[in-house]
Amino acid sequence: MQTSRSFYIETYGCQMNMADTEIVLSIMHGAGFIRTETLSSADIVLINTCAVRDNAEQRITGRLGDFNHYKKTNPNVIVGVIGCMAERVRKELMELGDFIDLVIGPDEYRKLPVLIEAADGGEKGIAVKLSRVEKYDDIIPFRTDGLSAWISIMRGCDKFCAYCVVPFTRGRERSRSLASIVSEVEDLSHRGFKEATLLGQNVNSYSDGTFNFADLLVKVADVDKKMRIRFMTSHPQDMSDKLIDTIASRNNICNYIHLPVQSGSDRILELMNRTYTRNQYLNLINRIKKVIPNISLTTDVISGFPTETEDDHKKTLDLLHEVEFDGAYTFKYSPRENTKAWQMGDDVPEDIKNRRLGEIIDLQRNISLRRNKTMIGDTVEVLVEGLSKKSVNEFCGRTNTNKMVVFPKNGDAIGDYIGIRIERVNSATLFGTKTGHSLPQFAILTT
Ligand code: SAM
Ligand code: SF4
Repeated sequence: MQTSRSFYIETYGCQMNMADTEIVLSIMHGAGFIRTETLSSADIVLINTCAVRDNAEQRITGRLGDFNHYKKTNPNVIVGVIGCMAERVRKELMELGDFIDLVIGPDEYRKLPVLIEAADGGEKGIAVKLSRVEKYDDIIPFRTDGLSAWISIMRGCDKFCAYCVVPFTRGRERSRSLASIVSEVEDLSHRGFKEATLLGQNVNSYSDGTFNFADLLVKVADVDKKMRIRFMTSHPQDMSDKLIDTIASRNNICNYIHLPVQSGSDRILELMNRTYTRNQYLNLINRIKKVIPNISLTTDVISGFPTETEDDHKKTLDLLHEVEFDGAYTFKYSPRENTKAWQMGDDVPEDIKNRRLGEIIDLQRNISLRRNKTMIGDTVEVLVEGLSKKSVNEFCGRTNTNKMVVFPKNGDAIGDYIGIRIERVNSATLFGTKTGHSLPQFAILTT
């Protein structure tokens, strides 16, 4: 096999894709390829894709145009589309033009070196079989040393929400063994990482046959009590009392839950196949708030799902009022072929979807601001992550509850835990200065 050739990779989409790219890096390095950060020096160009919404696919298709252009002046370059879009629109990709050499779905990354070799010989490589067993358990993701790591603990999804393409692009749910995840966290701890985020489409349903997600959280948190443990995404149906108690039981399991609700209307929730009602969701939120009073909650909301009426939309706004999330990721419904909702059409006009989305965003921004204002005067513990976006004289870092904090540099180093007294806020960021006294590890003090 030809070695020492360089490859360039771009990643689109969610954290799961970022984690997958680290697996791909490991496979490519193992086969002797060397990563380059610039397209213009690449022998192999890979794009790890997202298929969740049409706008993601359109951006990727646009970028493929640039790769086509690059290949015209460098005809020996191999171009590969990998990940969810490769799985979903394999045929269309191949028809996009002769410049695409490889189309490889999320469960077939191990074939990359072999298919690159075949592509060198002029063959097109398609590998898009979904697996019930592939977990890449034996592959250590390639990570450069740093503060935070993503750890993929499971793959696929069995929930089949009516709007969602993930079960079709990533296949059925399967969990890695607890032992392999714990050993990855041990390795991160030895290398000085300060934070690990456990990833899955629905981490709450993690099961390796013996252990559930609460068991896993305890084991992972106990590896290094100074390492923050985060996790996402949670599905309301599988958020057990045991899991809530477990989050509360360890200081280093962060007080932050991303709990997508999608809609506040029971009628829409049922059509979405979300398997809970508005009341069940609200009861769950109340249980969480009772057991973990400091909890920070974020959610996902879709606006303009088929048949959504003004009344359904108002119910979503009401729910946002009632829960008072710390933040929300908001999306316009995007029809996806093969999903159940695809057959329902896309009957909410674009201007109405836009207006509803705008109302959701405005409301949530006000709620986030109100929530953040309650923190003025508090002293919070921050993990120093790096320079702030706006000034070389400022650092930024996050609280245990995942809030971004910006503060003047004051002799601290990246990776330090420091106490910051919050002085002003906006809806997305807290601003403050370092307190004189040191904080007990992972405390949130209200002064
Ligand atoms: N597994 C997670 C969950 O249960 O919510 C999230 C997975 S999905 C990649 C992230 C978010 O994208 C979803 O929570 C949903 O709000 C949004 N989403 C998924 N399919 C969508 C679609 N067809 N149109 C608009 N938004 C969508
Ligand atoms: Fe998609 Fe629903 Fe699975 Fe999340 S839980 S990945 S929204 S099918």
